[in-house]
Amino acid sequence: MNLEISKELVDAINDQINFELYSGYIYLSMATWFESRNLRGMAHWMEVQADEEYNHAIRFHRHVTERGGRTLLKEIRTPRTEWGSPLEVFEDALNHERTVTERIYKIGEIAERLGDRATQSFLRWFYNEQVEEEKNATENRDLIKMAKDSIPALLHIDARLGGRKPAGPAPSESNKD
Ligand code: MG
Repeated sequence: MNLEISKELVDAINDQINFELYSGYIYLSMATWFESRNLRGMAHWMEVQADEEYNHAIRFHRHVTERGGRTLLKEIRTPRTEWGSPLEVFEDALNHERTVTERIYKIGEIAERLGDRATQSFLRWFYNEQVEEEKNATENRDLIKMAKDSIPALLHIDARLGGRKPAGPAPSESNKD
């Protein structure tokens, strides 16, 4: 059986690689916004998130190349640079992750239609990852909402988010956790 990946999936995954890198830009942009407001813990959390997005792009890239496809990199859109409040940033982050989930599910639908079981299996890691991403983004948004205008509460959340562990390196094979 020929396991070479179809052009339709390569195109969809190439778009997703671009979107993961764009996600990294967004989170790095959020990190600099927090940094400029001396919310260093939140800045750190966003930097780790940006790192993770790069790893996601690498995972997709490896899947394409392992299956005989070619990753084609495109221009990355300029991310948003200004927000009105920390709550706005975290709401934006949650909405962004929901968009990512939708996009990954769409790739899954293509893989299902084409009967590409290897891509379906590969995508399982991302389905689980998106549950985690949306959970974290929701938790952050809710904590900030709860803090309202309390500076001590905001600084407490900042310290908590500053404890996030750095993202590990991308796995050596696409299907490993
Ligand atoms: Mg991602």
